[in-house]
Amino acid sequence: MSQPIDKDPEFIALRALSSALGRDPSRTQAAGGNTSLKHDGVLWIKASGTWLAHAEERDIMVPVDLNGLLDALAADDPRAETAASFVDEARNPVRLRPSIETSVHAVIPHAVVAHIHCVETIALAVRADGEALIAERLGSLGDVAWIYVSYLRPGLPLSKVIAARSAPSVNVIILANHGLVVAGATVMEVADRLDRVCHALASPARSAPSPDLSRLAQAIEGSDYRLPADAAAHGLALDSASLSLARGGSLYPDHVIFLGPGIVVAPNVDAGAAARPAGARDGPPPMVTIPGLGIVMHRSATNAADALARCLADVVSRIPPGAEIVRLTPLQEYELTHWEAEKYRQALDARTSKQGEAPAP
Ligand SMILES: [Zn+2]
Repeated sequence: MSQPIDKDPEFIALRALSSALGRDPSRTQAAGGNTSLKHDGVLWIKASGTWLAHAEERDIMVPVDLNGLLDALAADDPRAETAASFVDEARNPVRLRPSIETSVHAVIPHAVVAHIHCVETIALAVRADGEALIAERLGSLGDVAWIYVSYLRPGLPLSKVIAARSAPSVNVIILANHGLVVAGATVMEVADRLDRVCHALASPARSAPSPDLSRLAQAIEGSDYRLPADAAAHGLALDSASLSLARGGSLYPDHVIFLGPGIVVAPNVDAGAAARPAGARDGPPPMVTIPGLGIVMHRSATNAADALARCLADVVSRIPPGAEIVRLTPLQEYELTHWEAEKYRQALDARTSKQGEAPAP
């Protein structure tokens, strides 16, 4: 009998890599991103709604029957959407669902796959000229065979295009308006390639003035809003180029999932609290951007919302003013907010936030 998976050196290395990626807000945020290992016909993949940052301290990897899932994908079997039917429940004591991006991992033939919402990748991959810019950056990396995939809803639609376009040699996939996938034979190979790709894609961030925290404290006094967990998020309101890029519309899926479509910009907290943007959930906006002052978060906003607030500031500060941007359409926003698999991830997020977890470092 083979040794238990949690004693397997590659599995241990994957947990360490996952945790490191999850703790770095420039690599991925909150429950975003996922990693996997194919081992003895089983696809071990991060559970939906769990945070990569917790990969070493909790059981967040779910075992999925790889051939069963691949057969279902080939046959257009609707059970491939969540992959839940292919989980080996005997080895899934925590009863979590596999990631909503499980099918993407399954169709990539490499043993190790890491998918992250890398800020550097997104800052280029939301631009109309993103593919050409990325070609320039990745040209010098001899071992990188990459493809650029236009935006599609994560999950089944994305995995079908990747399966059709991805030759076995492809080891880097740039997902427009979404993030980065890096694959390889071993965890060490993937970690090294991912690091070099992220560095090659890096752009300088515009610095924003420091927020006036006493004015902000006055602005939220007596309201249902609080300061964000990470002061870096204020850059969104304090750098005019970042603000105009951010207010143009949603750039990537996890923004829509955890902060709602677009951003609410208002001259003060009361006006922001009353805003109800098209396509947003009922109730006050989780985040309000007050130009020249800072951003404030509703007291019901989750840890994930805070992580995604910081992410938006990080992404737009890396995009030059005037760059032509490709945004998610209202229809693409709608399919994200009305997708059952994402509702599950939101519910899990609300539940873990209530348990008082610290926001992502
Ligand atoms: Zn993703």
